[in-house]
Amino acid sequence: MILETNTIKIDGDLIADSLSVGVVALDMSHRVVLWNNFMSKQSGVSRDEALGKDIFDLFPYLPKNWLLMKFQSLIILKGYSFVSWRQRPYLFRFKTERKITGGSEHMFQDCTFVPILDSNGETTLICMTIEDVTEAAGAQRAVDELTAANKALQRMTNHDALTAIYNRGYIEKQLELEFSKSKRHGNVFSVVMFDLDYFKKVNDTYGHLGGDEVLKNVSRAVGEMLRNIDLLGRYGGEEFLMILAETGEQDAAALADRIRQAVEGLIITSGGHQIKTTVSMGVVEFRTDTKDYLQMIHEADIALYNSKKSGRNRVTRYVRQ
Ligand code: GH3
Ligand code: MG
Ligand code: MG
Repeated sequence: MILETNTIKIDGDLIADSLSVGVVALDMSHRVVLWNNFMSKQSGVSRDEALGKDIFDLFPYLPKNWLLMKFQSLIILKGYSFVSWRQRPYLFRFKTERKITGGSEHMFQDCTFVPILDSNGETTLICMTIEDVTEAAGAQRAVDELTAANKALQRMTNHDALTAIYNRGYIEKQLELEFSKSKRHGNVFSVVMFDLDYFKKVNDTYGHLGGDEVLKNVSRAVGEMLRNIDLLGRYGGEEFLMILAETGEQDAAALADRIRQAVEGLIITSGGHQIKTTVSMGVVEFRTDTKDYLQMIHEADIALYNSKKSGRNRVTRYVRQ
């Protein structure tokens, strides 16, 4: 394609061929009027074969509707448009030698679309550039995958696989932190321990899977009743620990009782059966003379034991001797 200015004649093909990106220009009927070396080399379609042909006949796999909409907006807005590989990994199906592990063997592409205007300001051609960004995309993908793997790993180390709530290690660590914060500042918080009642019987009657279903459902129901400053963790097989931030014993016991009632009302279905369950709970609040967080767990456990002893399905506050 020859571009003429007042003083010099420029061979557009020569310029386009010297670039290490794909350059294509189309007329308003999507016929190819410019096709550089990069495009010939990557597509296997020579310039002679491409010129004058409808791009959609040459490459029927191109996303026609999407491209036509893009062209339409370029014609109307008369501005340029950039499409990153992140939005659309590639436009042309070019192969790449740089195969990304676990990724596609297609060349990743950043594309730009520019309308070429005539002297009346009307769009006569649409110019596209196609840049090979496989290497950068591959590096970015590796970073993305690593970040996702790290997140999953973090989740695995903090969360219980069955119930998806925090695991014992994490909830204990958080309790230790909350405890030392309160030791310094004197702010109140409470710990609630609860345990499913007669859970052995649930397993015996409905099988281990039935038991698992109960654990999952109770965890979800309790989690939904907490504020986002509260924490819930699975402390043992069917024993749970809650940390209620900025909450005194009285409010903690009231919340615990609402949770107890909610669990009592749950109907859990498993293997065609409807399972009901209850929980026994123990509540203790932080006091400035509490020795350490383990003492709080111990006291909550004593209160929980008293709930069991006095008939189950109830909430007991820890009473100091
Ligand atoms: P209590 O009311 O005194 O708490 O009686 P219980 O039967 O609930 O108490 P116990 O601690 O004797 O039994 C707990 C049972 O929980 C025993 C164990 O098989 C079961 N269990 C522990 N972890 C899991 C689990 O992940 N899945 C299932 N299905 N059962 C579990
Ligand atoms: Mg139990
Ligand atoms: Mg138990």
